[in-house]
Amino acid sequence: MAPPTVYTSSSAPVSFPESSVSAYLFSRPHDPSKIAYIDGLSGVTLSRAALRSQSLRLACGARRHLGLKRGDTALVLSPNSSTYAVVLLALFAVGAPATLANAAYTPPELAHQYTNAHAHLLFVHPALLSVAHAMFDRIGINKTEAACRIIVMDLEAEERDGLTALGALLDENELEEEKFDGQDADETAVICYSSGTTGLPKGVETTHKNLTAQLAMLGGQEWWNDDDVFLAVLPVFHVYGLVTLLLLPLLLGAPVVLLPRFIPDVFFGVIDKHRVTMALIVPPILLAFIHHPASTKNDLTSLRVLISGAAPLSIELTKAINDRLASLGARAVLTQGFGMTELSPVSHICHPSSAPHKPASIGALLPNLHVRLVVSADALTDADPGEPGEMWIRGPTVMKGYVRNPKATEETISKDGWLKTGDIAVRDEDGFFWIVDRKKELIKYKGFQVSPAELEDVLLSHPDVVDAAVIGIDDHAQSTELPRAYVVSKPGSTLAISDSFEKDVQTFVAANVAGHKRLRGGVAAIEAIPRSASGKILRRELRELAKTEAVKA
Ligand code: AMP
Repeated sequence: MAPPTVYTSSSAPVSFPESSVSAYLFSRPHDPSKIAYIDGLSGVTLSRAALRSQSLRLACGARRHLGLKRGDTALVLSPNSSTYAVVLLALFAVGAPATLANAAYTPPELAHQYTNAHAHLLFVHPALLSVAHAMFDRIGINKTEAACRIIVMDLEAEERDGLTALGALLDENELEEEKFDGQDADETAVICYSSGTTGLPKGVETTHKNLTAQLAMLGGQEWWNDDDVFLAVLPVFHVYGLVTLLLLPLLLGAPVVLLPRFIPDVFFGVIDKHRVTMALIVPPILLAFIHHPASTKNDLTSLRVLISGAAPLSIELTKAINDRLASLGARAVLTQGFGMTELSPVSHICHPSSAPHKPASIGALLPNLHVRLVVSADALTDADPGEPGEMWIRGPTVMKGYVRNPKATEETISKDGWLKTGDIAVRDEDGFFWIVDRKKELIKYKGFQVSPAELEDVLLSHPDVVDAAVIGIDDHAQSTELPRAYVVSKPGSTLAISDSFEKDVQTFVAANVAGHKRLRGGVAAIEAIPRSASGKILRRELRELAKTEAVKA
């Protein structure tokens, strides 16, 4: 057997301490009075000193009043806010792993995460309290018990709706942070959910070392620094937002403008008002630069770099955006990165100076990482130079594993430490990579994960559905994929003979899942789901079918 072809980053390895991520975050000598976070809607700011002090006081109160201790998992449910950072840093200080949930989750989705991650407490934004109550109801925890587990994320109040609020936990003393030195750096810091290459969403155990390594790898890039102003419109409950927008700027000493959601007027307005230089976004947001009138009504000349990630960025969109930025008089460079929750998350970034010469490239490998492009996992053959292969990545940012799921962990990380991304890439002779296909089941709707297996489970819970399969179809106009279902219904059932079959199925799914998982790609009735002899859904056949249906429509 030929030895594997291993590509190594051309950047020199960076060193990082084996310590807690929060110790590392505050290890650089930045002015404590400098702003860490700006609430984009209200304009309220939080300095680095206030952030540090509030999080350590909260950590002290959480330990004293809630009995929270090292190793206890807490779930955080909130859109972006500076309070999110206070809670997260408090959890790091206590040594309590934080499991971060999508703020749009329905009670069943939240219940899965809360129970699967073995959470003890729920830190929740005041506007999401009804979801929290419904979630506890669903998992059989009564109101009195739930009241002991819910902490309302309001630093100004001691109590909200009869529940403890953060203000009540701000102790007068600051906690001496838990240490995660040496081997302890392999303890879990964060658990985000990802379906990986197959199946249902699983808890990804990201360790202190994973995060510290990732921050050192990103923090060593010379093209961002403490003069930058970051814009966080991507949710920080996703590890892409968490690392690049909540944590990295803190290490760099750069302020971040936080927005709870993407509203084009507000987005362009805060770029102008706060002279934002660094915007990390997903391809569908880029479309607003072309189509939304607010892009011309605001001064966007402060923008230096636009970084797209989390989903494919086409050459056509890259070109259209570059033309548009030029016509707006903006000096911003559009570039791209690649990541995956299981990689903590960024593995590739295209240096802004290279982006114009390598359009649509995800860039070069970050330092400390190695990559293989594997053609056949069984025969363990690697692609010839310039040929496509599945990207396998090894290095200090590879997750510890999936929470209590050794089987899925073994399937995803090889014995010698390679993480199988499920993405097909090519590499050129300069060491730049392009994603050309996706081998895994995952669908990405506007950068958010949609697991086909999860939607198939929801569909199969419908009494009139006998079998179902979900695939992703491309929507070029919106620069995203859309989930589309094929459904076999019970012969003669109400659903089978319904005049509004498609709408009925879409409504049923919408009632059970967060907005980004809706069947926006439509629903088609089918006589039988194509399956292999072993029962595996033949998704490629369905994707071909969808293409012919699109041509006919
Ligand atoms: P997540 O774990 O939610 O970050 O999703 C990771 C997956 O998103 C990757 O495995 C890819 O399939 C996809 N992805 C992330 N970044 C890119 C990119 N720049 N181009 C194409 N696909 C991407």
